[in-house]
Amino acid sequence: MRKEVDVTILVIAEHDNIALKAITLNTVAAAQKLGGEVHVLVAGYRAGAVAATVANIAGVAKTLLADAPQLCEGLAENIEATVLSIARQYTHIVLPATTYGKNIAPRLAAKLDVAQISDITAIIRTDIFERPIYAGNAIATVQSVDSIKVITIRGTAFNPVSADGGSTPIQVIKAAAAVPSVSFVSRNLRKLNRPELTSARVIVSGGRGLGSKKNYAHMLGPLADKLGAALGASRAAVEEGYAPNDYQIGQSGKIVAPQLYIAIGISGAIQHVAGMKDSKVIVAINKDPEAPIFDVADYGLVGDLFMLIPELVNALHVYQKK
Ligand SMILES: Cc1cc2nc3c(=O)[nH]c(=O)nc-3n(C[C@H](O)[C@H](O)[C@H](O)COP(=O)(O)OP(=O)(O)OC[C@H]3O[C@@H](n4cnc5c(N)ncnc54)[C@H](O)[C@@H]3O)c2cc1C
Repeated sequence: MRKEVDVTILVIAEHDNIALKAITLNTVAAAQKLGGEVHVLVAGYRAGAVAATVANIAGVAKTLLADAPQLCEGLAENIEATVLSIARQYTHIVLPATTYGKNIAPRLAAKLDVAQISDITAIIRTDIFERPIYAGNAIATVQSVDSIKVITIRGTAFNPVSADGGSTPIQVIKAAAAVPSVSFVSRNLRKLNRPELTSARVIVSGGRGLGSKKNYAHMLGPLADKLGAALGASRAAVEEGYAPNDYQIGQSGKIVAPQLYIAIGISGAIQHVAGMKDSKVIVAINKDPEAPIFDVADYGLVGDLFMLIPELVNALHVYQKK
């Protein structure tokens, strides 16, 4: 890539103070494509172990650690204040286009008085990027002339860098004072016994065709268990209450690209396909042979899911026993 200006990139690490989220490796990969020095900021509380993990990432030039109680819960206001204290040293600030990154990036962009460049899937030059629009049906090429570019990246578009191979010093920086207008109240976390959706190798995803919350659990649960899969859902399935909100895949949900995506009772509306079309292998099970999901599927099974899924689960059982 042609180097336009001296480029120094700040990646904001996503983590829970204990472990680094895998998406940070994709974010670093995107940052490296900009061709400059990559620094990674861990903003948290008692997050030394996360900083140590970051310091091992291949190709990271500097690990910054801001460690303070006000950064414990990842409140965007407090992280923003800390990032702003160092932002002017960078030409690019890069975050994942996850709930975490999408919470922080707009605040940074507004305070820096620059335009945010959202959900990029390719870097053409240090100031030119590609991003999907119209639910992925068109790709916009956008140029930014801002002095600092605040960017969120689509994780599935950038292969993760290796978590090992680096050895950078950890530089402790001062956390900005707590923003008085916000305080942390509580967090309701659902304990997942399954892989996390955005990093799962296999996803079993259900739609309105399942007909009820009970069917969703009874049909998809055993199949996901056999495959060690994460569970996903269409928006219709979420709206009908079959699955929780954070299972939603698509334009207004999560973007995923697992090795195997099994769409069950999902019609394949463009807004759903926008979230899973980059999966390596797509299997669709639908009773309607004209369902648009078959246009993107590598393998299609036309039939009643209530007959096919139990058969499939049994077949997998037999296969595992061999
Ligand atoms: C702005 C906007 C954003 C949106 N964002 C999203 C998004 O992020 N994610 C998303 O998913 N949608 C999104 N949608 C909604 C989207 O347009 C569709 O309405 C939704 O994806 C449909 O979900 P579905 O396929 O589960 O339901 P349906 O379209 O109702 O399809 C159900 C399918 O199940 C099949 N079926 C029924 N019974 C059986 C059976 N017994 N066996 C086998 N197959 C069966 C049917 O043939 C049908 O194809 C968005 C829409 C808008 C306008």
